[in-house]
Amino acid sequence: MTNQATLLPFLELLEEEVIEFKNLIEFSALLLGHKEVIRLVLNPQSIARLQLFTNQYYPDFLITISSFVLEDVFNSESFDRFQRRIFHSEDTDKERVLFIGYDAAVVEAWQIEEDGCEDHLTAKRYSYPECCGKTYARISKKERWIDVFFEGLENYALLNPLANRFAGITDPWLTYHFDYFPCSVKCQNTIDLCRKNREMIIDSDLSEFVTLIDAHLSGVIILFGDSIWYLRLDRMVLKAWESEMGINPIVQSTEKINSKLLGLKLHEHSASAYIDSQWHHTYQPDLKVYVFEW
Ligand SMILES: [Zn+2]
Repeated sequence: MTNQATLLPFLELLEEEVIEFKNLIEFSALLLGHKEVIRLVLNPQSIARLQLFTNQYYPDFLITISSFVLEDVFNSESFDRFQRRIFHSEDTDKERVLFIGYDAAVVEAWQIEEDGCEDHLTAKRYSYPECCGKTYARISKKERWIDVFFEGLENYALLNPLANRFAGITDPWLTYHFDYFPCSVKCQNTIDLCRKNREMIIDSDLSEFVTLIDAHLSGVIILFGDSIWYLRLDRMVLKAWESEMGINPIVQSTEKINSKLLGLKLHEHSASAYIDSQWHHTYQPDLKVYVFEW
């Protein structure tokens, strides 16, 4: 088996928004045998497109499709999306789960999901860390993913950019992450996996993406109340940034509709953010600032 994945054809699917970049990372791992099956939630048009694409480029891969359709249960944040299965649906427009990869793994993944899918079984089948699969039980019981992810941290912390899952869910969505919820920003299994995926992209025909991905992973997460902002580090000069226009949160508080981030300063052991006409500081309880820096 080769160490170099040919990923160029997948850019077609990215451009057509059939898949996201995190899915491309998974396809790369599939081609190299680091993974045996991929799970995608797709509408009928995208399913048809992916089937056509697979016939053209990877006819050896098996595709199966869930017998059930998916319906959103709650969607508290743009990246906390929960769905439930509906069997025997007549609705032909709804999303279904598509499984693609090596025969036995695809059949097994399909069966796990048809049977009701236990979190730790699912994680193992998709080569996701077991610790993350176990913790997912908390998130599916409506605990906020972000609270679980940053649990136990001080209000200000420097973190490994490989663990920056926000990069994969903010424009331009570049990431080394697979498509799962990590149990913690400190999850060593996730960091190791992302490092391995980074090497995989360096060795692939998309190696020129590495500089772009690395830059996108260098960013700051600002949490204030229920709102969350994301600022790339390369927008800051000498660890400070101000803007008269400000930026909107990537996740908006339900109470304050027009909260804008207008300034940010990173100090040695703390940070300050200008939000709603006022400076807030990480030594106060309300503000949390997490810096992902190489
Ligand atoms: Zn984990």
